[in-house]
Amino acid sequence: MKDKPESYWKEKLTPEQYKIVREKGTEEPFTGELLHNKEDGVYRCAACGTPLFSSNTKFDSGSGWPSFTDVIEKGNVELIPDDSHGMHRTEVICATCGGHLGHVFEDLPSQAGGPKEGGKRYCINSCSLDFKEE
Ligand code: FE
Repeated sequence: MKDKPESYWKEKLTPEQYKIVREKGTEEPFTGELLHNKEDGVYRCAACGTPLFSSNTKFDSGSGWPSFTDVIEKGNVELIPDDSHGMHRTEVICATCGGHLGHVFEDLPSQAGGPKEGGKRYCINSCSLDFKEE
């Protein structure tokens, strides 16, 4: 799906989703509709439907974006070094369609917003996700 023309995504996604998923935008913190979602289920790519995260790994990071400690299956996302905006970060994209999802951070247990036990914090835009209760 990575070879789909931008016109395909423009038609498929809402303007807000398009800005984030295809143009690597970031939604305003604390605005995403899945931020406080605590139902059991699977978070899929909003653009192509690939399963990305399980509710089992979702936690409240306080960052303002839905946060997960792990992906549902390793090969379903790709990690890309991102040095934009004067920061060194790791971008997370959907391995199937190439859509922008968010960033992943290495947190220490003591860091505010990190997972309690330390480890990875996948900070993902609500707009990039489609939740299905299971
Ligand atoms: Fe996708």
